[in-house]
Amino acid sequence: MIERTLVLVKPDGVARGLIGEIISRFEQRGLKIAGLKIVRAPEELIAKHYDHDDIVKRKGEFVWKKLMKGLTNQIVVAMVVEGIEAISFVRKICGDTEPRAAPPGTIRGDFAHHGYAYADAKNIPVNNLVHASSDAKDAEREIKIWFKKDEILSYKRADEAWHYG
Ligand code: GDP
Ligand code: MG
Repeated sequence: MIERTLVLVKPDGVARGLIGEIISRFEQRGLKIAGLKIVRAPEELIAKHYDHDDIVKRKGEFVWKKLMKGLTNQIVVAMVVEGIEAISFVRKICGDTEPRAAPPGTIRGDFAHHGYAYADAKNIPVNNLVHASSDAKDAEREIKIWFKKDEILSYKRADEAWHYG
């Protein structure tokens, strides 16, 4: 039940100075930061991270192109977040993909109000600050893309007994 998931602070989150705020959202819920790095992401990394066929099937080729353009060679913060059912829980903390639809209290709902129609008209990916793995298969695949095994650390937090019982 203790899961690990991949979170990215995307270039718009980095540019907005929200790296610390976003990490806090996970830490304050008792989730553990097991890996953390800041990188300028080359095209190959973004092309591996976003599964081309999955994005095209769900969203269309135009979204794939926008994502590649919006993230390639930009600064992103990557982290491995660990906790109880962390994969779905982290998605909940992030909020809906479209910030307009994300409820207040979520990262996307508190710091953005971008929408699909606007982003599509401007030919940019919808600015939603974060990425979080969507399921167990993606979490495993994505963590491997961004982190070597020895870059993910196990340690105890002082409040761990409280969170884990
Ligand atoms: P996520 O898992 O919540 O990040 O959403 P998806 O996997 O469905 O999409 C990946 C990313 O593509 C999103 O986070 C957005 O940045 C972008 N995106 C998704 N759908 C659209 C869309 O309809 N228009 C635009 N412009 N960008 C989109
Ligand atoms: Mg996704």
